[in-house]
Formats: sequence, C-alpha cells, structure tokens
Amino acid sequence: MPRYDLHCHSTHSDGLLSPTAVVDRAAARGVHVLALTDHDEVSGLAEARAAADEAGITLIAGTELSVSWEGLTVHVVGLGIDPANPALAAGLHAIRAGRTLRARRIADALAEAGIRGAYEGALKFVTSERLVSRTHFARFLVEAGHAREVKDVFNRFLVRGKPGYVAHAWASLRDAVGWIDGAGGQAVLAHPGRYKLGRSGVRRLLAEFRDAGGQAIEVLSPSHTPAQVTELAAHARVFGLLASGGSDYHGPGESWMDLGGLPPMPAGVTPVWQDWKAVRPPLARPGTFSDA
Ligand code: AMP
Ligand code: MN
Ligand code: MN
Ligand code: MN
Repeated sequence: MPRYDLHCHSTHSDGLLSPTAVVDRAAARGVHVLALTDHDEVSGLAEARAAADEAGITLIAGTELSVSWEGLTVHVVGLGIDPANPALAAGLHAIRAGRTLRARRIADALAEAGIRGAYEGALKFVTSERLVSRTHFARFLVEAGHAREVKDVFNRFLVRGKPGYVAHAWASLRDAVGWIDGAGGQAVLAHPGRYKLGRSGVRRLLAEFRDAGGQAIEVLSPSHTPAQVTELAAHARVFGLLASGGSDYHGPGESWMDLGGLPPMPAGVTPVWQDWKAVRPPLARPGTFSDA
C-alpha cells in the first residue's frame, strides 16, 4: 500500500524547510505520494517537483487556500492543480496581498497590547517575500520572550479575544473551490475538526462545500482526535465526499506530526486518490532519518 501525505508546508509559506528538504524528508520517512500545500501559494512546487523526481517519489501539486465562511477562517486544500492556471494564480495573488495589509494591522494590535516592533520582528522570520503569516508573528513572539514555543503563542495571542487578533476577509468558499476546480484540481476541506462548529455547523459547511464543487474532506489530520476521525469518516460517507489526509507538517519542533506519520485511512470511506494514476514506490535509500 503506498503511503500518502497530502498536506504540508515549506519556506514558500510558513514552513521551516525548503521544498527540497521537505521532499527529501518525506522520501526518507517512507512517503510515496506527497502533496506540498503551501498557504495561498504555488511557488514552491517547481523545486518540489524536481526534488521528487530525484528522490523517486510522486509529487502532487497542491496549495492551501484561506477562506472566510460565516465569520470563521477555514482552509481548503487543492490537490492536483495546474499551478500555472491564470484564475487560480490571480486568486492566490489577491489572498497574499490581503495578508500584507493584515500583518500591519496585527502589528498595530500587538502594539496596543504593549508589544512593539512586531511588524519588523515578524518580517525577520519571513522566508518568502510574497507571504507573511501569523506563524511568522508567533516566531517573533517566542524570540521576544512572550511565549515559550510557537504552539503556545496561539493560546495567548493572535486568536479571537487575545492580543494581536484582527478579523480578516479571505476568499469566499465558492471562489476558492471554483479556482481549484478550474485549475483541474480536487478541492479538499482541510482539518474540519478544527473549526469548533458544532453539529449543525459542520453539516452546513459540508453541504455548502459540496454544493460549491468540493470533492473531499481531510479525515486524517493531527488536528483530529480518534473520535473525530470516526465522525468525519461518517460525514464523508453521508455527504458523498472523498477522504484525504495529511500531516500538516511545518518543520522540526513546530508540528504535532512528522511527514508520513498518519495512521491508515479508516475503512468505509473512498480515498481522494482512488482514481489517481499509479504511483511509483520510492527508491531504496540507506540509513535512517534523524530529526536533527
Ligand atoms: P495565517 O494563515 O497567517 O492566519 O496563519 C495560520 C497558521 O498559524 C496556521 O497555518 C498554522 O501554521 C499556525 N497556527 C494556527 N493555529 C495554531 C496553533 N494553535 N498552534 C500552532 N500553530 C498554529
Ligand atoms: Mn501554517
Ligand atoms: Mn490549515
Ligand atoms: Mn496547513
């Protein structure tokens, strides 16, 4: 059985590793099919593709779009997209432009809470001049001594009700799914268990997502408890959606799960990859991988 990891990040968004390093790490950890899904960005895919060819694994061209839905931020992964598709490229460009404006407002909000220099501080951690994320602010807040680690930042800053939070309008669900669909990809609702929606909210989101042309939901994600995996597998069946899964890896020391670390897909769902063409096994490579 090939091993799939269909969600991860590189330095082209808020990950810590270059696309090449992500691909090499995935290959070394036994991943056969990897999707690089940088936030609102496809610029890392060319490098990732070359690295995957070298490593002998299959790369799926992906991206993770930021979407506003009923006042919440939700994420939609696109798998198997054409990164050169003009409408998708324009949509991603617009989302990234909004990020730059939001970053100024985040810095202003932190300044109001007495934390100065956050804009410049976050920029020091930015690894692509095209994209600034809350993760970069989180790394600045750790460096400045306001939190012990990045995961801890999001309990105390940058989220609703806490210093540094600003509301922001991302793409609409319909636009995001439409851009992915138009670029030949499959739209996948990312980590649905993370949105704290309640029973009726989940159903509304899944119905709206499916009606917009969404094809799959992430059943497997480190954001999900085993109970949520079971529940989401049932939702996938009921709503006629395919099932995906990914580690959402961001880099050493900043992630809940390493590349390739997902459990097997639960029985009774149709995997998002069911109609994908045959994938190749990775080249045998000596030695084990260390987290250094
Ligand atoms: P943004 O897209 O700029 O709003 O940033 C969102 C990113 O922040 C996510 O993709 C994660 O990488 C990170 N993030 C959000 N919530 C958390 C959390 N609770 N713990 C760690 N990282 C988080
Ligand atoms: Mn991220
Ligand atoms: Mn996400
Ligand atoms: Mn992600």
